Amino acid sequence: MVNIDCRPEETSPVAEMRDESLFFLFSSVTRIKGLGAATGQALARLLPAGTSASGSNVPIVRDLLFHLPVNLIDRRFTCPLSEAPDGVIATFIVEVDSHHPPSAGYRGGKRPYKVECSNDSGTITLIFYHAHTDYIKQSLPLGSTRVISGRTEHFDHRLQMSHPDIITTVDKIQNVQTQEPVYPLTIGLTSKRIGKYVATALEKLPDFPEWIDASFPPFPDFPDWKSALRKAHHPETAEDLMPVSAARKRLAYDEMLANQLYLAILRRNMQRQASVVIKGNGTLSGKLSASLPFTLTQGQLDVLKEIYADMESGRRMGRLLQGDVGSGKTIVALFAMLRAAEQSLQSALMVPTEIIAQQHYETLTKLTAGLGIKVGLLTGSVKGKARQAVLEEIANGTITIVVGTHALFQEHVIFSQLALVVIDEQHRFGVAQRMALTAKGNTPHLLHMTATPIPRSLTMTMYGDMDCSLLKEKPAERLKITTRVIPLSRYEDMMDRMKEVLGKGEKIYWICPLIEEKETEGELELTPDNDIAAAETRFTEFKTRFGGIVGLVHGRMKNDQRDGEMKRFASGETRLLVATTVVEVGVDVRDATIIIIEKAERFGLSQLHQLRGRVGRGSKPSSCVLLYSDRASEVSRSRLATLRDSDDGFMIAEADLQIRGGGDLLGSRQSGLPRFIFTHLIEHRQLLEQARQDATEFLKKDPELHSARGKALSTLMQLFG
Ligand code: ADP
Ligand code: MG
Repeated sequence: MVNIDCRPEETSPVAEMRDESLFFLFSSVTRIKGLGAATGQALARLLPAGTSASGSNVPIVRDLLFHLPVNLIDRRFTCPLSEAPDGVIATFIVEVDSHHPPSAGYRGGKRPYKVECSNDSGTITLIFYHAHTDYIKQSLPLGSTRVISGRTEHFDHRLQMSHPDIITTVDKIQNVQTQEPVYPLTIGLTSKRIGKYVATALEKLPDFPEWIDASFPPFPDFPDWKSALRKAHHPETAEDLMPVSAARKRLAYDEMLANQLYLAILRRNMQRQASVVIKGNGTLSGKLSASLPFTLTQGQLDVLKEIYADMESGRRMGRLLQGDVGSGKTIVALFAMLRAAEQSLQSALMVPTEIIAQQHYETLTKLTAGLGIKVGLLTGSVKGKARQAVLEEIANGTITIVVGTHALFQEHVIFSQLALVVIDEQHRFGVAQRMALTAKGNTPHLLHMTATPIPRSLTMTMYGDMDCSLLKEKPAERLKITTRVIPLSRYEDMMDRMKEVLGKGEKIYWICPLIEEKETEGELELTPDNDIAAAETRFTEFKTRFGGIVGLVHGRMKNDQRDGEMKRFASGETRLLVATTVVEVGVDVRDATIIIIEKAERFGLSQLHQLRGRVGRGSKPSSCVLLYSDRASEVSRSRLATLRDSDDGFMIAEADLQIRGGGDLLGSRQSGLPRFIFTHLIEHRQLLEQARQDATEFLKKDPELHSARGKALSTLMQLFG
């Protein structure tokens, strides 16, 4: 008897004990000399919350040190006043010639306070709006010589400087003519102060043993960690701020190495677990092959080979199957599950929503008709006696394949012989949740399927704990979906077209980027150029236009309410479905022929590609309309054109990554992507490959991290832990 329970639990492959050398880095920032409680609170608005024993949210020293400057002010520049360019930060030594307090301007407005200054190379006027007269008089006494530093500008061919950043005496010029790092800030903090705390903390930084193997350098002449961190906080040129600078590359490499080691250890731990040997005998899969109206593509066959090999190995399978929308993953999963069934072993297919569970249940029931095995459905809405019956049949083995939502695993469902768990469309699962699933006593084989076509670099960081299979080609006879990119100003044309299509009995998805966020003052306008394309607003509007055939689903609905709406749409009771991106994943309404996406420029390309996959699933020609608002930039329009011109999910994902970077790729809501601090997924791709190789190779040599480098790497993982 197997009992699956996969509520998340804390598990870490890295020892819980923290190296002493890390204590300072992991203590509260208030441990830094001169940094008080108030500053600690201010920093809490800027940095991740600390995890001090006191339970306070004051950030830790490490996170302050990981907070890198984003810009640089170079005050070293100076020149003759008469030759000063416009709009540069410059420092000058000048004499104060005259003060011109503002006279009351007309219409009551105040004119600025002006101070005329000069040196033998020219003149400059200092301008102060709303300034305290006393302060100006004190800091710029008539006839004195002063150092001023700030941004130059010209007005009426005269050089001036508004509100100099620095006014001081000549003996302090050394302190002025420097390069100042500029940090991301919050109220109550200045870059200068952050710089000061960072400098203090850097002084107390312990020396760590080098964890990079000099014989496998990430790049030639890489700096050590401490110098890299120092350098990153003291940029001298604009290049120093770039991800490709040596310092930042080093820090990023360390981060990626820690990440890849962590994942490699997870993967190894998984592979170390024994699991039942599944060889099958080909009886059921043979029957299925014979009854299918199509033959498997070469891609599907190749992937199955990999899966079968895992299942036969005696070690636990942990495999990711990546395949674009419509590439035919379900059938692959079914073949794998039949293999298990041939040995009277059970499989579970877990999907994200009830409606998809229902769909898969129906599909699998149809496909397995005549094979003599029973498919069961277990979701939240299977209740009472029916539920009891299903639970019983799962426990006594009558049901061989059970389809369900994650409710399947949250309760104590007892299986008789569970050997394979398939998780479909679960890119919302991060590594942590996956671990919770695998950390249990029993060890069924695991197959994860995702339609999110993510580029390899992201796969490595998101799914590096698993082996990956790729389903590249799609079944040949798939109808092409026409994609059009149209400005929102053609809204009325769109309405006419929709009316026509609905008149023919077809179905339409209308996707809005946001649901009504808050009650704004007064009513939301019902115009197409309204800034927030609220699904609820559209719904109301379309009901007036098209009558009772309009449905609405959005993320804030209760699950059963949403599923009810989806069912009405699937059955044809409603035929125009206004939706937020909840329809994105896996929903299969075959006779939907048009999907219209409003403010398409707000979505990630991959997300749009997924949405597009909701149509073109039946026999009728389908189309996808990307409506962009007239305010959309040239860049975003050309992004949309990428989508119009390609239906290759991987190519689109690459393009998306190039344009938007990793974080936004999947839409913030559903990315299981780790948040990197130093790593730039595009600029550091090469390094990521290398870090992966480094981690994998090293673990082969020293799986328990016992060697000197192993210990150093363990410190590294704790540093980023
Ligand atoms: P996805 O990978 O998006 O989950 P599905 O598994 O839902 O794709 O498959 C989409 C459709 O393609 C299904 O109707 C399925 O029966 C069909 N299909 C799968 N494999 C093939 C194939 N080799 N040839 C033709 N049609 C196929
Ligand atoms: Mg699918």
